[in-house]
Amino acid sequence: MSDEILQPEAAADDLAFEGALRPGSLAEFVGQQKVRRQLQLLLDAAQLQNRAPDHILLAGPPGLGKTTLAMIVAHEGERPLRMTSGPAIQHAGDLAAVLSSLVPGEVLFIDEIHRMARSAEEMLYLAMEDFRVDIMVGKGAGATSIPLELAPFTLVGATTRAGLLPNPLRDRFGFTAHLEFYETDELHQVIERASRLIGLEIDTDALREIAGRSRGTPRIANRLLRRVRDYALVHGGAADHAAVSAALELYDVDEHGLDRLDRAVLSAIVERFDGGPVGLSTLAVTVGEEAETIESVVEPFLVRSGLVTRTPRGRVATAQGWRHLGRREPAPEPRLIDDL
Ligand code: ADP
Repeated sequence: MSDEILQPEAAADDLAFEGALRPGSLAEFVGQQKVRRQLQLLLDAAQLQNRAPDHILLAGPPGLGKTTLAMIVAHEGERPLRMTSGPAIQHAGDLAAVLSSLVPGEVLFIDEIHRMARSAEEMLYLAMEDFRVDIMVGKGAGATSIPLELAPFTLVGATTRAGLLPNPLRDRFGFTAHLEFYETDELHQVIERASRLIGLEIDTDALREIAGRSRGTPRIANRLLRRVRDYALVHGGAADHAAVSAALELYDVDEHGLDRLDRAVLSAIVERFDGGPVGLSTLAVTVGEEAETIESVVEPFLVRSGLVTRTPRGRVATAQGWRHLGRREPAPEPRLIDDL
């Protein structure tokens, strides 16, 4: 869904912009108060004992600040940072190459850690626990393993699917942070800061409107801000509430922040399956999208917005979900007295 303005994954044109807007310290990081305090404690304790902080797992939907937090962990401890991702580690050898070149105290960030190769996962267990890996040399009966000492490092893993991580890997993190969607007030602060940094004059009403339509996600809030800036620039007007409404209408973002795909999923449940329950894979086929995208991006937002609930038998539209599409939830079937 690379054409979607509300997709929470980074698009190519986000990267340069995001680099400039990333908060550089925990104090500048908006929201996630509990996680911030927990991380601060972890970093302070490591600093006092002059050791690398414990390994950290950051779990949550895309665009909520996992990469930013990994950078902050390195920055606050004045430690170098190495960044890689699960899909880039397809063999244990890929991981061995990264691990063996780390300098003492380095922070290793592995994004989408749930997508790493199984063989690499097993190597990582030992590396995280004992700062050691066993390198296999040779093949068949003549194969031997050579232990290799590693520099102490801090692994920061990020995942949108904590449930997909094998328990032995999950257990080796000293701290797991579950990032939550942001409140509108918090997103307001995020884009207020961003507009200052990009030198955009924008009024409070406009900021509030953008914040309310950003699916609880800072990356989306920053992206919508950019489209509003473009709109005001091209039309020669102010970045005000009217510009926000016009720009977001152009990009198909409705007043609750639902985009085309969110609405497609909701209306599939309501129109095609009579409100549900409907299973994830059926839903994915119906709207022509990957099940993983529906599960990790669309569904958490629809559930959080109170439009859909998850039941053991599948996804169900709530009364509010029906109303969002301008429909009324049908009354339950009348039950015969004998059934009661
Ligand atoms: P993730 O790694 O979870 O996909 P990122 O860390 O790349 O998300 O965040 C996306 C963008 O959103 C960043 O460039 C940053 O500017 C912004 N951002 C994320 N979280 C915050 C926050 N708490 N405060 C301010 N900006 C944030």
